[in-house]
Amino acid sequence: MAQNLQTQIGELLQDLKGLETKHALRLLAERFPGEVTFSTSFSFEDQLISHEILVNNLPIKIFTLDTGRLFAETYSVWSSTNERYNTHIQAYYPDHSLLQPFIQEKGPNSFYESVENRKQCCFIRKVEPLKRALAGNSIWITGLRAEHSPDRHELEQLEWDSSNGVIKFHPLLHWSTEQVQTEIKKHNIPYNPLHDKGFISIGCAPCTRAIKPGEDFRAGRWWWEDASKKECGLHVHESVTEQGDSNSLIPDSLKSEGLTIRNN
Ligand code: SF4
Repeated sequence: MAQNLQTQIGELLQDLKGLETKHALRLLAERFPGEVTFSTSFSFEDQLISHEILVNNLPIKIFTLDTGRLFAETYSVWSSTNERYNTHIQAYYPDHSLLQPFIQEKGPNSFYESVENRKQCCFIRKVEPLKRALAGNSIWITGLRAEHSPDRHELEQLEWDSSNGVIKFHPLLHWSTEQVQTEIKKHNIPYNPLHDKGFISIGCAPCTRAIKPGEDFRAGRWWWEDASKKECGLHVHESVTEQGDSNSLIPDSLKSEGLTIRNN
């Protein structure tokens, strides 16, 4: 089934070409009924996509990954979004049977001590819950934009995610920050106030900081690490990882405990 899905990408790219975001989302929702889901982190771009889904009543699920380490401001914008659109965005949480021994052994802030610890934390708090959130879906909508990372400039709006067995759709891939901000203002969409304080890409509180003018967008995430190691495992593009090997995301120490990622 996954292979059938993957072969549809070329045709879908043609069909989506030139469509406004809401029309593109509607087309996917109609073509894959009940199998389209959107992951939000309540960033500028994610808020804009949620707005399009919710004001147009599109049959697309919306979920967030609550890592347990988010900023207070992120929880506030999550609440305001529920209120504004009269909705209940679904949250996925880390599996306590993985999180508890990890914290017990390494402490709450071990991600500052090594890349391996940081990847374990991201795996337990984000990658594994994401796997559960995507199960049974064909299309995963994301708010990725090319400006956010050097390896995203070559991306297409649709890409195959072999780790999760879904097609990813990035409707705002080629939008500029200014375009996104203009739409947010125009529709008075609730947004994370940290964006006004120099935060561009907002993730977990201990691993995100504001950036200075002229700094790269990704400088605000895991700033203590080598820039080449900065993906968290949520968006691993086929061109930069081993194709089809979802288990390459799992830190060695968790593999030795028998943990693997199953393809859907
Ligand atoms: Fe853990 Fe930081 Fe990754 Fe969040 S971003 S899951 S706190 S390492």
